[in-house]
Amino acid sequence: MYNFDYQRPANAGAAAAAFAGDARYLAGGQSLVQAMKLRLSQSERLIDLGGAADLAGISVEGNTVKVGATTKHANVAASADVIKAIPALAELAGGIGDQMVRNMGTLGGSIANADPAACYPAAVLGLGATVHTNKRSIAADSYFTGMFETALQTGELITAVSFPVPTRAAYIKFKQPASRFALVGVFVAQTAAGVRVAVTGVKSSVFRATAIEAALNASFTPAAAQAVKLGTDGVNGDMHGSAEYRAAMVSVMAGRAVAAALAR
Ligand SMILES: Cc1cc2nc3c(=O)[nH]c(=O)nc-3n(C[C@H](O)[C@H](O)[C@H](O)COP(=O)(O)OP(=O)(O)OC[C@H]3O[C@@H](n4cnc5c(N)ncnc54)[C@H](O)[C@@H]3O)c2cc1C
Repeated sequence: MYNFDYQRPANAGAAAAAFAGDARYLAGGQSLVQAMKLRLSQSERLIDLGGAADLAGISVEGNTVKVGATTKHANVAASADVIKAIPALAELAGGIGDQMVRNMGTLGGSIANADPAACYPAAVLGLGATVHTNKRSIAADSYFTGMFETALQTGELITAVSFPVPTRAAYIKFKQPASRFALVGVFVAQTAAGVRVAVTGVKSSVFRATAIEAALNASFTPAAAQAVKLGTDGVNGDMHGSAEYRAAMVSVMAGRAVAAALAR
């Protein structure tokens, strides 16, 4: 492990003010600490967000569920408010990694990291959420910009995410069995403005499957989703699954997500 200075500010404002030079925020440490131990990431200073009480918590405001950036996956999974308003979001959080990862990992850390196989990005994009930072609010459609890349600027601090409550939604993940990251994960949401389908684990970044959205806008049925055949342009292939396999699985998982959403 590299040496680093450590700060633990008491609130979001102090955390953002502490960010200068070669610094990095530390949330649950479930991605960052491993990267540091593997010497893939080095920073002179870590600013631990765990002491900033104003960054954690869940509130329901009208037709929106607002989740603070440092809220742990386990807390989202167990939240009665989330289970009632957006059960798909609670289930997604409850299916991330293992219990230790869920007890430590945070929403903000997950979407700042933007791992191409992570689960939360599918919920953020699938629900058309808004990412709030200490500087601005960013629509999900403009937030994820590439592999481990987002619209965040250096030092910009995610403070919360607002998730609009959909008519119905579901997330289905075909897991990589060792890590439980998504080999193929599909979040389907039926909203007043139409259907949104977000896919993770398949390309360099989470993306919307617009052909499946069009099919589901015409007919919100598993068969409609499964009838869409996706191409392999930009689709990942590795020892766990070829590009052809992953592309085919997107339609299968989307169909299962529609069935799960309809069963609610
Ligand atoms: C064994 C294992 C299995 C896992 N399985 C899954 C899985 O199935 N699905 C899944 O989605 N994820 C999975 N993860 C990842 C997990 O969800 C992590 O919690 C997440 O990727 C990072 O969140 P964190 O809070 O630990 O962030 P950290 O590791 O502390 O930080 C990650 C990055 O985000 C930045 N950051 C953190 N918070 C903020 C903020 N508020 N504003 C701006 N930048 C910030 C940090 O500077 C760092 O660059 C797994 C991890 C492990 C170790």
